[in-house]
Amino acid sequence: MTILTDTYTLNNGVRIPKIGFGTWQIPDGEVAYDSVRMALESGYRHVDTAYVYGNERSVGRAIRESGIDRDEIFVTSKLPAEVKQADEVLPHFEQTMENLGLDTLDLYLIHAPWPWNHAGTMRMDDENLAVWGEMEKLYRSGRVRAIGVSNFDDHDLKNILDHCEVTPAANQMQYYIGATEPRNRTFSQSHGLLIEAYSPLATGGLLSNPELQAMAEKYGVSTAQLAIRFCLQNGVLPLPKATHREHIEANAQVDFTIENADMTTLNGFADQDPDRHNPSQR
Ligand code: NAP
Repeated sequence: MTILTDTYTLNNGVRIPKIGFGTWQIPDGEVAYDSVRMALESGYRHVDTAYVYGNERSVGRAIRESGIDRDEIFVTSKLPAEVKQADEVLPHFEQTMENLGLDTLDLYLIHAPWPWNHAGTMRMDDENLAVWGEMEKLYRSGRVRAIGVSNFDDHDLKNILDHCEVTPAANQMQYYIGATEPRNRTFSQSHGLLIEAYSPLATGGLLSNPELQAMAEKYGVSTAQLAIRFCLQNGVLPLPKATHREHIEANAQVDFTIENADMTTLNGFADQDPDRHNPSQR
């Protein structure tokens, strides 16, 4: 078993490969298709996409044409953050499934608790509950093996937990060295949700940090590998995105151990770019 096939177990018993391949900002068409094919060829068995990434068609085609059994690949997609009415959930889900060309989805997430143009500045508790009710229906229908949330802070998640019948299985949040959302993460984990680390390389922003470069050198790895390993040693699931084969392959080679003292340093690392986060993500 490699780190790519090793799994976490979600709170409903579904197993999820410990590293997912991120696809945000990979253009639909050849680039998305080739990137996902390269990832699958390199051994990744978990792909993260979203309706709003606009690349579900190419991602789905790459999965279908990979020659790998469907049940060996864990596929996540997301309901757009702007969808906050119950009757809009099923049509968006159907569109996602048509785009992907798949019969079932492994994980379906509410992309955010607010529309992106109101990120971190408004509460939509009633709307999120209505949407969650529809997510539960999809889960019970068997077309989705697990359901969860993304970008939910402790307030947004408590709202769901106080009223739900199906507990969310995961919270996908911005998580990288220096920005680990301690309050939201702790609250999610204490209620049994798996944390998925999005932008584990800070969308590339961490890679030229001299302190991290020096630490990575000590282990004979790259800064990207250090950042991915950091997530794994904290028990969260990194979703690195890459389009270059050498990056895709390198990001799966994280079979080393960051010493405890260095983990303490990394867990106390200052946020290098606080303005990047909305208030609910701090
Ligand atoms: P990221 O994984 O933090 O960083 C990607 C960038 O790092 C790309 O520019 C990539 O380059 C570069 N890179 C990757 N591996 C590298 C390596 N080994 N050496 C040097 N450079 C390397 O990016 P992200 O897209 O922000 O986040 C990852 C995934 O999280 C997304 O794709 C998406 O699936 C998910 N996400 C979710 C949300 C949400 O709201 N739920 C938001 C953001 C992201 P190349 O592409 O040139 O190879």
